[in-house]
Amino acid sequence: MSVDKKGDPERIAADHGDLRIITIPRYCKGCGICVTFCPKSVLEIQSFKVHVARIRDCIQCMQCELRCPDFAIEVHGTGKKGSGEK
Ligand code: SF4
Ligand code: SF4
Repeated sequence: MSVDKKGDPERIAADHGDLRIITIPRYCKGCGICVTFCPKSVLEIQSFKVHVARIRDCIQCMQCELRCPDFAIEVHGTGKKGSGEK
């Protein structure tokens, strides 16, 4: 986990291989929609904000990004499960 300071608002990056999941705490209202739709239980709500808890399990289905009503989560990757893994 690292802070990705590409302008405002703050973007939090979680990385695994070629996969990067960005969360934007300022936009996230902790509604849990992304957590509900994630088929691999990658995401959790912690202190009313989304948290990328198990990025290694992400299959890049994009459901979290597509379902979030506040554009608070982005998935950047190759779209191939396991890309970047050794
Ligand atoms: S769906 Fe969006 S606003 Fe709701 S918890 Fe997930 S990232 Fe936050
Ligand atoms: S892309 Fe799919 S598997 Fe990965 S965190 Fe989002 S909903 Fe979960």
